[in-house]
Amino acid sequence: MTRPAPGFSLEDMDMPVDHIRLHEAGELDPARWGARGARLATLARLGVPVPRGMLLSTALVTRITDIGADRVFAGQIAGRIAALGDDVLLSLRSSPPKPEWGGPEALLNIGVTDARLPAITQRVGRKGALELYFRLIEGYGTMVEGLDPEDFENLVADQMKVWSVGSEGELPAEARAALADEAKALYADETGHPFPQEPADQLCAAVDAMARNWNSVSARLLRQSHGAEEDAGLALIMQRMALGVGQGACGAGVVHMVDERSGLPSVTGRWLPQAQGYDALMGLRTPHLITTDARKAARQTAPSLEEQAPEALAELREHYTTVANGLGDAHGFEFTVEEGQLWVLDAILSPRSARATVRIATDLARSGAISREEALLRVEPRTLIEHLHPQIDPAAPRDVFGAGLPASPGAATGRIVFTPENAVQVQAQGDAAILVRVETSPEDIRGMHSASAVLTVRGGMTSHAAVIARGLGLPCVVGASDLRLDLRAKAIVTQDGRTFTEGALITVDGTRGEVVAGAPAMIPPELDGAFETLMSWADQVRTMGVRANADTPQDARTARSFAVDGIGLCRTEHMFFHEDRITVMRKMILADTTEARQAALAQLLPMQRDDFVELFGIMRGLPVTIRLLDPPLHEFLPHSREEMMELAEEMDLSVREVTERSNGLSEFNPMLGKRGVRLGVTMPEIYEMQARAIFEAAAIVNTQNLEQVVPEIMIPLVSANREVEVVKARVDDIAGQVMAEREVSLTYRLGIMVETPRAALRAGDLAKSCAFFSFGTNDLTQMTYGLSRDDAGRFMRDYVNQGVFAEDPFHSLDIEGVGELLLLAARRGRRTQKELMLGLCGEHGGDPGSIHFCKLAGFDYVSCSPFRAPIARLAAAQASLMTRHPALRSQDTTSEDPDST
Ligand code: PEP
Ligand code: MG
Repeated sequence: MTRPAPGFSLEDMDMPVDHIRLHEAGELDPARWGARGARLATLARLGVPVPRGMLLSTALVTRITDIGADRVFAGQIAGRIAALGDDVLLSLRSSPPKPEWGGPEALLNIGVTDARLPAITQRVGRKGALELYFRLIEGYGTMVEGLDPEDFENLVADQMKVWSVGSEGELPAEARAALADEAKALYADETGHPFPQEPADQLCAAVDAMARNWNSVSARLLRQSHGAEEDAGLALIMQRMALGVGQGACGAGVVHMVDERSGLPSVTGRWLPQAQGYDALMGLRTPHLITTDARKAARQTAPSLEEQAPEALAELREHYTTVANGLGDAHGFEFTVEEGQLWVLDAILSPRSARATVRIATDLARSGAISREEALLRVEPRTLIEHLHPQIDPAAPRDVFGAGLPASPGAATGRIVFTPENAVQVQAQGDAAILVRVETSPEDIRGMHSASAVLTVRGGMTSHAAVIARGLGLPCVVGASDLRLDLRAKAIVTQDGRTFTEGALITVDGTRGEVVAGAPAMIPPELDGAFETLMSWADQVRTMGVRANADTPQDARTARSFAVDGIGLCRTEHMFFHEDRITVMRKMILADTTEARQAALAQLLPMQRDDFVELFGIMRGLPVTIRLLDPPLHEFLPHSREEMMELAEEMDLSVREVTERSNGLSEFNPMLGKRGVRLGVTMPEIYEMQARAIFEAAAIVNTQNLEQVVPEIMIPLVSANREVEVVKARVDDIAGQVMAEREVSLTYRLGIMVETPRAALRAGDLAKSCAFFSFGTNDLTQMTYGLSRDDAGRFMRDYVNQGVFAEDPFHSLDIEGVGELLLLAARRGRRTQKELMLGLCGEHGGDPGSIHFCKLAGFDYVSCSPFRAPIARLAAAQASLMTRHPALRSQDTTSEDPDST
C-alpha cells in the first residue's frame, strides 16, 4: 500500500556530492548510504509507508566534516524547509554501513521554534506542540551542545512534583509550557546563547554535530573494534517526522510477527500512545500491548494497538510478508501512528532462538524469499543441539557450582550417585541419576546407560566418559577439576566449601560445561517439521557421507533414525563388557595356554556373531565398519577383590594366581603399549575369532536379506605396513574358510585406522594393502601433541582461556598440525591408490569446522556419534555449498601442499 506523502527534497539544490530521495532510490549500496538508509529505500520501494526524506551519502557527510553543513548546503536549505510548511518537522538519523559500528543517536522534532509553534499547535494541540518543543531542546542541547540530559530530566521531575503527577500520569498544558520555557532558559544559561530559532540552523548544527561525533576518538575505537576500517564513513537520513503525539490515535511502538522461541507466526511487541521513537521500550510509562488477545492474557486494561488503531495493525501484518520477501528475512517494525495512520520508521531483524532460526529459514525458503541453499547456510550447525537435547531455559536463574569441559550436549537433572550400581538402582526406582565419578572406565558403562547425565572431575573431550556419553546422547561434563569428590563422605565439595551429598538434586549442563544446583526450568527437545525439512535439504546438497560411531544395536537404531549413511566405527571392545561375556573375556585374557584361550574364544564367537547379525540387519545393506579389538587387555580385568575371587573360582585358580596373571599384563603406559594391531599380531586368535564372527554374520544376513552386506574390517593403531600384511593375510584366510564352509561368496573391505603419526607419514606404503583409511583423530591428536587425551581436561580450560590454544584440539581439529598430517596422508595414500576411500571417525567427525576441513581435503565421509549426525549432515551440506561457491570459503586449506616441501 503506498500513501502519498508530502515531499521533502533537496534535489534542486546545487550540492557538490551525492544525496538521494528516499522514495526514488531503489536498491542502494549500504557501504555508501548506510544500512538503515539502504533498508529504508527498499521499504519505500516495497510500498511500506516510510516518511519521505533524503539520504546524504557517506561521501557527502565526509565533505560536511571538512567544511561544515552550512557551506555544503550553501544556504539553500532554509528555503526548502520553509516550502514544506510551518507545521512540518524533521528528524535526523545516522546510517552507518554496519549497524554494529554504532553511530550518533537520532535527533527528532527539528523545526520547532517560537514562531512556528502556533502552526504546530494547530496540528497536534497545544500540549503536544509544547512537548515536542521541549524534546527538541533537550535532544539538541544534549547532542549539539553537550548539555547534561539529567538537567532536563530534573526539570520534568520538578514539574511532576508541582502538579502531583505520578509516572503514569500526564502533565497539563501549563506544565508543558513551563517546561519549554525552562528548557530554553537552561539552554541559554549553559551555552551563553539562545536556543536557535531558524529550522535550517537547527538542522545544519545537528548534521555538523553528528559528523563530529562520528569522528570522535571513542566512536572510532568502538567501531574499529567491530571491524570497521579507519576511514569508514557515516551516511545520514533526513526525514519528515511522523508525529506520535497529537490528536486521535497517536503513538509509537515496536512489533514482531514471529515468535522468538518457535519461529511460528505470532504478533508480539509494545506500543505507547502519545509517544515517539523507542519510548515504548524505555520504561517511561507502562507500555500497551499490540493485540487484544495478549492484553487479555496479561489482564491489562490499557487498550491494545488492535483496539486503538486496528487499521494500523492490519497494515503492519500485511507488510510483514512483503518485507520478509523483499529483505530476505523475518523483520519486525519500529512504527509510529499519527492520527490513526501508520508510518514505518524502520524494519528490525526479528530476534530468534536457535530453534526459531530453523523454522524462519525454512519458511522463507518455502515462500521463495530465499533459496534453499541460503536457508541451509543461515543455520549454525552446532545450534541444532537445541532440537536434539533438553536445554536449561536461558531465562531460568542458575546456581552454578562447578565447571568443566562441555563433553556432551544437553542438560539433565537428577540425584547424585557415585557408583554405577547406584545409578542402576536409582533408575530402577523411577528416579533420574547423575553419575559422578573421578573418571569412568569400561566397567561403568552399565551405570552410564542407567544415568541421566555424567559428571567427572578428570578427563578431556575424548576421554572414556566423553566418548560414551556422546554415543548415548547423555549430557556430560568432564574435567570439572574445581570440584573435589569426598568418596568417604559421599559428597561433592566445591572450591568455596559447599557440599552436595549423595541423593542431592543437581543439573548437568553438557552444552555449557556447567554443573548447577537444583532443578532449573528446562526446554524440551523437539524435532519438528522444520528440522526435518532442513535435514532433507541438507542431504540433497551434501556430497560427503555422514556415518555413525555405533557399537550396539541400540546405537545403530538411533543412528538410522538420524538417517546416517552407515556405521563408520563399531568399537567391538564395548561388546565384551556385557555381564554375560565379561567373565569369558577375562578367561580368554588370563588363559596361559593357546588351548585355553581358544576355548574361551570359541565361547565368545557365537556371541560376537549374533552382535554382527543384529547390527547388519539393522543397517540393511549400508556400510558397517567394524574395528578389531583395540584397548589394552588389562582394561577388561577386574579391580575389586570380590570380582577377583569370583574370577578365580570360575577359572579354578587361586586369587593369588589370578592377581599375578593380571599384574603380569599391567603396563606403564598402556595407551602406547600392547593394544590395537599389536594385539592382533602377537595374539592372533582374537582377531581371527572376530574376523570369523564378522564373515559368518555377513553370510547369514546375506542369505536372509536382499540388501547384501559388504563388511569393512578395520585394524586399529597401525604404524607399519608389515603389521597390516600380517593381519590381512589371516583375515583373508578366514574369509576363504567361511566362504568354503558356508558355500557363499562374500565381498569385504579391509582398511586401517590412521591414528599414529607414523601411519600418516607412511600412508603411501600402507595404501598398498588397504581399501580404506579412517583417521582416528583422537589418538592422532594425542600423539601429535604428545598430550594425553584422558588428562587434557585438567588444564585445557586454562589453555583456551589464556589463548594458548584457540580451541581444545580434541574437540575441534587442529588444522595446522594434525590437519597437515591428514592432508599429507590423504595425498600419499591416494597417490598409491586412486580409489582409496577416506573417512574420519575421531570425535572431530561431529565438529562443523573439522567437517569443513574434511570436505576440502576430499574425504568420502565423516563418522560421529549418532546424536551428532544431524549437525554433521548440515555441516557437510554447508561445506559442499561453500566449495561450490569458492567466494563463501572461510579458509582454503587445500592451497597448502604438505608434500611439496
Ligand atoms: C580415535 O583414536 O580417533 C578413535 C576413533 O578411536 P578411539 O577413540 O576408540 O581410540
Ligand atoms: Mg583410537
